[in-house]
Amino acid sequence: MPEQSVAAEIMRAVDAGFDAQLQLSQELVRCPSTRGQEASAQDLMAHAARDFGYAVDMWHIDPDEIAKHPGFSPVDVSYENALTVVASWRPKNPKGRSLILNGHVDVVPIGPEKMWTRAPFGAEIDGDWMYGRGAGDMKTGTVSALFAMEALKRAGYRPGGIVHFESVIEEECTGNGALSTLVRGYKADAVLIPEPTGETFTQAQVGVVWMRVKVAGIPVHVAHAGSGQNAIEACIPLWSALHALEDEWNLPENKHPAFKDNPHPLNVVISQIEGGDWTSSVPAWCTFEVRVGLYPGVDPATIQAQLTETIAKASKSHTFLANNPPEIEWQGFLSPGYEVPEGTPGEPLLDRCHETVFGAPLGRRCSTALTDSRFHGLYNQTPSYVYGAIAENVHGFDERVNLPSVRRVTAAMALFIADWCGLEKI
Ligand SMILES: [Zn+2]
Repeated sequence: MPEQSVAAEIMRAVDAGFDAQLQLSQELVRCPSTRGQEASAQDLMAHAARDFGYAVDMWHIDPDEIAKHPGFSPVDVSYENALTVVASWRPKNPKGRSLILNGHVDVVPIGPEKMWTRAPFGAEIDGDWMYGRGAGDMKTGTVSALFAMEALKRAGYRPGGIVHFESVIEEECTGNGALSTLVRGYKADAVLIPEPTGETFTQAQVGVVWMRVKVAGIPVHVAHAGSGQNAIEACIPLWSALHALEDEWNLPENKHPAFKDNPHPLNVVISQIEGGDWTSSVPAWCTFEVRVGLYPGVDPATIQAQLTETIAKASKSHTFLANNPPEIEWQGFLSPGYEVPEGTPGEPLLDRCHETVFGAPLGRRCSTALTDSRFHGLYNQTPSYVYGAIAENVHGFDERVNLPSVRRVTAAMALFIADWCGLEKI
């Protein structure tokens, strides 16, 4: 921790910059950066970082370049607009430790707009809250990393070590954006990711696998439905089999120790479905998508094998599917979980920084969703910390982030950077 008077100066500098921080956060939330549409959000972040005086590296993700990496997740969408931004602070003679600050700007779809009571990309502020898709997950977080750096400058200091600010995409579906920074060579002594963790420290997070299952039926006129095969209804026993596997994974004896107090850490969700062409035809096809959680330390390949076997077994006991087995495709997450190793120096430091700002100890949580922390954590053995503000309705309707919480977390991050990297007087 910087000495008390310096810490107080830095916290005051966060307050002084907070209006500008909110303004950039609102501009970012107003960029509707769903998958494939992230370019304007990334342009905005690159522009802001350049204005702050950082060297900015911006590139298109090339799937061929990252495909051989074990952290790669397969994609079946165009990466034509897939941009990654890294803004770097490099002191002339780096004396302190280096740090990566990472945030994502991609957001999930809004769902039916009529179920929102606020404009989904309006970034409306009402009292202590900012509303909008991505306001919590995690655009205010991404912006807070940049402003934590700015607070040091405003207080008359610069970090004594190299800092890379990474603004990435693809966090919500593959993580290939964060992976591309790793493959391009960005490394540091620690990583800090301000995802909305409700002001807690993320001790462990699950991994995720996405699976697509395609069932083909036999189309006939509904008048002779018995002679056809309904592809949609044939999926029902497959879902039951997947949920039976889910139940088994969540049995107390099968739980990962970090998740032992969580009643249901691994969720298997049938999350998308398409099928059939006509109301008076027996549907000839059905495709459904599944999201599956896995414990840290488990290889996604093991889960793929279990899922494949489960689908095969359930199909064998189905009169039609036994001879017409479904096809399985893997696109999107094939991602392991991550647990922060014990005894890394950043963890007690973050405890102290949090306590200085909040006047209360930093709580711990184990997350049943994943973040990009696994990349530097698993493939570069860099301790990766996930710590951020309070948000509500993330991935739901009327997503919102608590602004006093954003301010406090920004201050704790600024103190963390100051201690981790050391300070140079400007
Ligand atoms: Zn997120």
